[in-house]
Amino acid sequence: MLKIEHIGMAVKDFASAIPLFEKLLNTPCYKTEVVKSEQVNTAFFRQGESKIELLESTDPYGVIARFIEKKGEGIHHIAFEVSDIRAEMKRLQAEGFVLLNEEPKKGADNKWVCFLHPKNTNGVLVELCEEMK
Ligand code: ZN
Repeated sequence: MLKIEHIGMAVKDFASAIPLFEKLLNTPCYKTEVVKSEQVNTAFFRQGESKIELLESTDPYGVIARFIEKKGEGIHHIAFEVSDIRAEMKRLQAEGFVLLNEEPKKGADNKWVCFLHPKNTNGVLVELCEEMK
């Protein structure tokens, strides 16, 4: 794994969360992008080498809506950048980690992504991501 690419935060509503994070991080949101397959709207902030990704549900029954209902707003996942996502998925699977998707899928911000089941990672949802070439 190369670095922490971003930290994903589940928020109820962008209208209040984006201005708040702009103030907190003292940097403008540089991109918002809907990921239809995940029923989520994303907003990105650069912070040095890493990013903050805000996640807002576009569906009252989507994964982020259900996460907030169960745990409240807050940190949703940590994303690690990898140079070869397939090789890393294979390595982690061989180590006994459970992948939530067997094939890399198209994520936000021009990335191939794969999530690991949090039951094997002390409750932390881990995302692998590789820049699309
Ligand atoms: Zn993410």
